[in-house]
Amino acid sequence: MNSYDVAVIGSGPGGYVAAIRCAQLGMKTAIIEKYSTLGGTCLNVGCIPSKALLDSSHHYDDAVKHFEEHGIEIPGDIKVNLEKMIARKQSVVDQTTGGIDFLMKKNKIDVYQGLGSFKDATHITISGEESTEIEAKNIIIATGSKPANLPFINLDKERVITSTEALKLKEIPKHLIVLGGGVIGLELGQVYKRLGAEVSVVEYADRIVPTMDAGVSKELNKVLKKQKFKINASHKVKSVERNGDEVIVKADNKKGVEVEFKGDYCLVSVGRRPYTDGLNAEAAGVKINDRGQVEVNDHLQTSASNIYAIGDVIKGAMLAHKAEEEGVFVAETLAGQKPHIDYNLIPGVVYTWPEVAAVGKTEGQLKEAGIPYKAGKFPFKALGRARASMDTEGMVKVLAHKETDEILGVHMVGARTADMIAEAVALMEFRASAEDAARMSHAHPTDTEAFKEAALAATDHSKFYEPDTAVHHVTGFHW
Ligand code: FAD
Repeated sequence: MNSYDVAVIGSGPGGYVAAIRCAQLGMKTAIIEKYSTLGGTCLNVGCIPSKALLDSSHHYDDAVKHFEEHGIEIPGDIKVNLEKMIARKQSVVDQTTGGIDFLMKKNKIDVYQGLGSFKDATHITISGEESTEIEAKNIIIATGSKPANLPFINLDKERVITSTEALKLKEIPKHLIVLGGGVIGLELGQVYKRLGAEVSVVEYADRIVPTMDAGVSKELNKVLKKQKFKINASHKVKSVERNGDEVIVKADNKKGVEVEFKGDYCLVSVGRRPYTDGLNAEAAGVKINDRGQVEVNDHLQTSASNIYAIGDVIKGAMLAHKAEEEGVFVAETLAGQKPHIDYNLIPGVVYTWPEVAAVGKTEGQLKEAGIPYKAGKFPFKALGRARASMDTEGMVKVLAHKETDEILGVHMVGARTADMIAEAVALMEFRASAEDAARMSHAHPTDTEAFKEAALAATDHSKFYEPDTAVHHVTGFHW
């Protein structure tokens, strides 16, 4: 029987990063994956394919709606070849998952294909084409998550679908009903909206992206409505029925009145659930809580002291970069180091266009915690770079402590904010003040100037502005 210092179950961004870091730190490492390709949800049916389709559909949308304004004329009709678009997405996925195979070989990590089940706290049975058993001193559970469902919905995966099927549709829906106005529903909804589908979002909460800052949610709602999304917040879905090629969704609206949505596809994107099916966690003494998550302490250690868990299968945001940080954290803990993760500084992004990006506390959270704060905002439409690219939608909001000026939260809606948020994360990591951000030179013209200006607005204006004219000393922007 092969014996290891560490065995990792699951090869998503949590698992493969943990395995690489363990190997780099000198541990003999194995990774177990039940599917034939490595990379987990993120690389196969999550982050990467959804971004590939978002990028392709964005090009199409630009060509149809904006090229002419830029003075670009395309003779004849611009058409979508969905099959080719999906094939390109798949080739991006294949390249990326192939990259993980390479990394496993490079770091001398043994890869086992098959379902990993605990026999006890140090032995795992792997049932694949050939069943085998391995032994490991330490084990990292990184089994991720699967799409959640509502108990009364029959996911037939043809017309009533999850994100996995939405990434490989054979036709553009005429009317896509999206259940859930969270990140996944809005991103995939926007893909098909751009390609010509009518899209109706049905959300239980009173606003889309309900976990994000309320101001951001309002701004995104405004922009998506302009893009002709039909957004139905405060709607409680009661039934989803299929009638031939038609899907009928019934929901109660805010007033308790039943409303009906008829479409040809229904995307159920009501969240994801931690995945531990077939793991046989109890045989190892690993506790699963009543939310289905593997229970961990602050060291990400489970109730079995040699077994750790990371990523979507434990508490916290279901994000690839959160899983990665946790993978590194456990590997370094096993190597005797003292790593640290600041969960407050894990950024959250929605890759719609305009993008939404945030880090730190929302206004709602600060109010609830009774923390005194001040807010500075800056709209993209006041920015030269945004006007040049015609991406004038959205704004940046900086929340800083009222007395100390420390940046407590940054919330952005706008073009390329997914990349821009990194600056806010870095500054907050070093506990910068809004004034620090406002005094840093930002290349002109760039979208990042919106962050500088919002930081400036959050800090003491008199330092930068002529009091009587309210003209910014540096940029000349009229307040
Ligand atoms: P996973 O990636 O889910 O990987 C777990 C792996 O474990 C899987 O490959 C599974 O097959 C394997 N496994 C499970 N049980 C066993 C077992 N018993 N034996 C062997 N193998 C097993 N996050 C972002 O940060 N940014 C994004 O843009 C983003 N976009 C997304 C878009 C979509 C459509 C979806 C669905 C998700 C998206 N996410 C995004 C979320 C992201 O994919 C997850 O947070 C991330 O993949 C979690 O990583 P993980 O390693 O915990 O688990």
